[in-house]
Amino acid sequence: GLAVGPATGPVATHCPYCALQCGMTIGADLSIAPRTDIPANAAGALCQKGWTAAELLTNGERLTTPLLYGRPASWERALDHVAARLSAIRAEHGPDAVAVFGGGGLTNEKAYQLGKLARVVLGTSQIDYNGRFCMSSAAAASIRAFGMDRGLPFPITDLAEADVVLLAGANVAETMPPFVRHLPAERLIVVDPRRTPTARPAWLHLQPAPGTDLALALGLLHLAVAEGLVDEPYVAERTAGFDEVRTSLASWWPERIERITGVPVPRMRQAVRALAAARRAVVLTGRGAEQHAKGTDTVTAYINLALALGLPGRHGSGYGCLTGQGNGQGGREHGQKADQLPGYRSIDDPAAREHVAAVWGVDPGDLPGAGRSAYELLDALGTPAGPRALLVFGSNPVVSAPRSAHVTGRLGALDLLVVADVVLSETAALAEVVFPVTQWAEETGTMTNLEGRVLLRRRAVAPPPDVRTDLEVVQGLAARFGHRFAADPREVFDELRRAGAGGPADYSGITYERIEEEKGVFWPCPAPGHPGTPRPFLDGFATPDGRARFVPVEHRPPAEETDDDYPVHLTTGRVLAHYQSGAQTRRIGPLAEAVPEPYVELHPDLAEQLGIVAGDLVRVRGRRGEEQVVARISDAIRRDTVFMPFHWEGANRLTNPALDPTSRMPEFKVCAVRVERVT
Ligand code: SF4
Repeated sequence: GLAVGPATGPVATHCPYCALQCGMTIGADLSIAPRTDIPANAAGALCQKGWTAAELLTNGERLTTPLLYGRPASWERALDHVAARLSAIRAEHGPDAVAVFGGGGLTNEKAYQLGKLARVVLGTSQIDYNGRFCMSSAAAASIRAFGMDRGLPFPITDLAEADVVLLAGANVAETMPPFVRHLPAERLIVVDPRRTPTARPAWLHLQPAPGTDLALALGLLHLAVAEGLVDEPYVAERTAGFDEVRTSLASWWPERIERITGVPVPRMRQAVRALAAARRAVVLTGRGAEQHAKGTDTVTAYINLALALGLPGRHGSGYGCLTGQGNGQGGREHGQKADQLPGYRSIDDPAAREHVAAVWGVDPGDLPGAGRSAYELLDALGTPAGPRALLVFGSNPVVSAPRSAHVTGRLGALDLLVVADVVLSETAALAEVVFPVTQWAEETGTMTNLEGRVLLRRRAVAPPPDVRTDLEVVQGLAARFGHRFAADPREVFDELRRAGAGGPADYSGITYERIEEEKGVFWPCPAPGHPGTPRPFLDGFATPDGRARFVPVEHRPPAEETDDDYPVHLTTGRVLAHYQSGAQTRRIGPLAEAVPEPYVELHPDLAEQLGIVAGDLVRVRGRRGEEQVVARISDAIRRDTVFMPFHWEGANRLTNPALDPTSRMPEFKVCAVRVERVT
C-alpha cells in the first residue's frame, strides 16, 4: 500500500471539491493548510469550501452503516440483496434493464471500475454520469476542432503570460477563487448575463441576454474579419475550413448581434481589438457558454474566434474549458461515459474495443455499444423500454438533473434504486439500498484536474468503522456475479493504465510514485520515461493532418423563449459557499450559515414593476414547475433575467431538459419563468 505520511505529521492531499484541486495538507487533528507546491494554488490560497473541508469527515450526518429499506443492515446482507435483485431484473428484462450513474467527483480509479462493472459484469450499455451535465459541450467542441479534449491544453500558470483573457460564462471568483490569481489583472474580458464578482473588477464586461453567447461570439468574429484582425498566416498553416466560416459570417453583422445580445457594438469592438492586439491571449469557456441546447456550437463559435486570432497551440495563448467538478476531466476519460471506453476512446471504435476487451479478458463482440446519455437515461427509468434498476455513485440527480421533479418521479418508478454516498442525499433518501462510502481524506486515488494534470489524493485519516470505499462496493458486487475486481486503488490504476494505453488520454507512463515526486503528471504520458505533455498542441493538433478545424455554426434562439405567460429568463449558477447539489456543503456549519437557503435574484427595476422588495417570498413559475424562494434585489443582473443558485432542490425543477444534439447537454442556463410575490 501507499505510505500515507508520518502518523503524526500532516498528509499532503487535495481538496474534495472543485476542478482546481487545490493542494492542501490535513493534520491528525484535521487541521487544513494550503500547499504551496501545487501550481493551481501555489500562492497558498484556498477558498472557504477548502478551508472547511475537514468538517465533512466528522459530520454528524455521515452514513455509517448500509441501509436496506431505510433500516441498518450488514454489508453482506445489503450486497447479497442488491446482487439477487439485479440478477432477477436482468433475467426478466435483459441486461440493459440495469443502469449505472456515476459522477465527475469520483476518482479516476472509480470512474474506470464503474465502466468495467457496467460493461463486463452487468453487460449493460446503460451507463452515464453527471459530467454530461457539466462540460460535455466543451468536450464535443474540442474534439471536433482539435481532435482531442483536454480542458486546459496548457499549464494553469501559462495564463499569467497572457496579456488578455476572455472568460465566457464562468464565475471563477466564486466557483474557484484561487484561479483568479492566475488571470491577468489588466485585461480580463468577462462574458456573463450577471455582473458577478468575477465580472465586476474585469477590464471589460459584456452582458449578453441568456442564450445568446453564440451570437456574441459570431459578432466578435465578424468584427475580427471586418477589421482585418485575422491571423492569416496561422489560419493558412495550422487550420482548415476557415473560408466556409468566413462566408457564414455575412449574415451576422454587428448591429444585428447587438439587437440579439444587447451588447453594444463598440464594446464588442473593444474586446476583439484587445484580443487581436495582445501578444498572447486566451479564450476560456465555462458552464455559462456550455449548458445550452446549442452548447457545442456555442463553444465552437468561441474556438473559431480563438483560431481566427491564431491563439490555440501557441505558448501562452490558446483556448481552454474550465471543468467544474473535482474530477471533471478524469471523470470523462476512463469509461463511465455512455459512448466511451478507457483512454478517452469511442466505444464504437473497433480497435479500441479490441484493446480494452483484451485487458478485460472478454470477447470484443460481447462489449455493449453506446447507451443513453445522462438525461435520456434518467428520463427512461421505469418506462417499458428503459432500465428497471439503477446504481448511483457520487451523484445526486434529484437536485442536479434538469426538470428534476420529473426525474424524481422516474427514480420512483424503478424496481430497484441503489445509492452509494457519504451522506443521505436527496437521491439516497429514495433508495432501497444505500451503501455508506468513504470520502476524500479517508481514501487514496487519482484525480485529473482542469489542466489535465493527474494528481494523487491520499488517505490521511481512518474512515468510520463500517464504511467502505466505492471500489470495495464495486468489488463486492462483481464478486457476487463471479468476477474478481481489484479494490486497491493502485492496482486499479495500473489496470486503468493498460486499458487506456494508446488512447488520447494515455496514462501508461504515470505512476503514483511519479505523481508524488513531480507534483502531478500531464497526460498524454504514453511511456514510463515520457515527461508528460503540458502543452499537447504546440507542434500540431490531434487531427489526422495536424490542423485545427473551423466549423461553421449559426445562432438560434433558446429552446424556450420568453412570452406573455413567462416573460423573464431564468439562469442558474453557483455561489461561493456551496458546491454542486449542496449535499456536502449544506451540511457544513460555516457554509450553511453563509448562504442558508435558496433565493432568486432580480434587478431593482423588475422588482419594482412586480411589487417585490428584498426578503419577500416569491413564486418562480415555469413550464415544468414552480418554486417559492426569497427575493434578493441586485442591479448586477439584467432587467429581463432572474438568477437562482442550484445547490438546493428547486432551481432544477424549473430548468429545461432540451438537449444539445451533439453533446446531449441539457439547457440548464436558460428557460422562461414568471415571478410573482406570494401574498
Ligand atoms: Fe480550491 Fe476548489 Fe477546493 Fe476551493 S473548492 S479550495 S477553489 S479546489
